[in-house]
Amino acid sequence: MPQDTPASFDQELETRLVRYAAIDSQSDANSPTSPSTTCQFDMLRLLEAELKEIGAQDVELTEYGTVLATIPATAEGPTIGFLAHVDTAPQFNATGVKPRVIKGYNGGDITYPDNPALVLSPAEYPYLAEKQGHDIITASGTTLLGGDDKAGVAIIMTAAKHLLQNPDIKHGPIRIAFTPDEEIGRGVAKALPKDLAADFAYTFDGGEVGEIVYETFSADGAEITVKGVSIHPGQAKDKLVNAIHLASKIIQTLPQSVMTPEVTDGTEGFIHATDMVGGSSEMKITLILRDFEREGLAEKGEIVRKVCDAVAATEPRAEITCEITPQYRNMRYWLEKDMTPVDLARTACRKLGIEPISVPIRGGTDGSRLTEMGVPTPNLFTGMQNIHGPLEWISVQDMAVATKLCLELASLASDTEKQDG
Ligand SMILES: [Zn+2]
Repeated sequence: MPQDTPASFDQELETRLVRYAAIDSQSDANSPTSPSTTCQFDMLRLLEAELKEIGAQDVELTEYGTVLATIPATAEGPTIGFLAHVDTAPQFNATGVKPRVIKGYNGGDITYPDNPALVLSPAEYPYLAEKQGHDIITASGTTLLGGDDKAGVAIIMTAAKHLLQNPDIKHGPIRIAFTPDEEIGRGVAKALPKDLAADFAYTFDGGEVGEIVYETFSADGAEITVKGVSIHPGQAKDKLVNAIHLASKIIQTLPQSVMTPEVTDGTEGFIHATDMVGGSSEMKITLILRDFEREGLAEKGEIVRKVCDAVAATEPRAEITCEITPQYRNMRYWLEKDMTPVDLARTACRKLGIEPISVPIRGGTDGSRLTEMGVPTPNLFTGMQNIHGPLEWISVQDMAVATKLCLELASLASDTEKQDG
């Protein structure tokens, strides 16, 4: 199909993102099920059907809620995985998304039909100023857009269709995975690395054009339980131990003007209290600990433990426990031993005339877990901006660049291409 020139990606990407964004697929950290919400199946089943329709092989919706598929090889080469997540962030309203396309953006302020007070200004967001003339997709003012990560889904689907329609393009075996629950840190099921069966992979879940991320936070979670002594307050003298007071002491003693998300940046880590629930007899405090290095992360765990011990020492009748659990690790630890996937992405990027940018991201991706589990998985740009809120937007032309990057990667990785170049 030679008429399917790269220029035509714009229309397909726009149509796909608008269609996917309108589907509610928000995840929910408080749900114990997997996927966390049944609405994510609306996206997963749709993608399963669309992959079959475009002729992908081995299309499967796994019992852990991931859609897998294969684009058969047309040449020798390693197996590459391309991943995107179908869920949208729980932090903001994601129900009833009405995507809107602004064709040929004029460079001015963008206003919203459903929220006249809301303004997206290029003065405030300089990256938007660079996109004059582009087609910009936003929501309508009351919801997020969900380009995070439906842009990634649209990019991979568009590239997959192009490869399947053009078997003359030489590439090795390609595996596709659309995962649930990335936003709540539960996107990578135990069986995924084996089922994906890729030598290395890429998530399309990054921001501005050129972004190739291979450094993420290392992350632990901490749960502090404070058990007091409960008794009727009328007979409480010298007996009652109030867990609320002790939990407050712990929060008061933990760092507040340093080492919190609101006062750190760059490569600094933090301790962040995310939740405190309970009553006078028992309280639970939830914290997340973040640092780029294992040592820094361990130190933060030590601070939390020491604070708990110090408060426990003031009231021996209370029981204070602190449980720290690993969440994910900086993917750099594995990737720096073999930079092949990162170098390949950089080469592909430069072939498109774009200088790659690699900055450590203050968060994690599905790729952090996958890398740790043996599938090196850097994160690549999609164009998405101002994610998880009503000002989220994306340029269709940025998505088209990401689609070309995906195709370039597929070609570059195959042995044929390596021998040619
Ligand atoms: Zn994402």
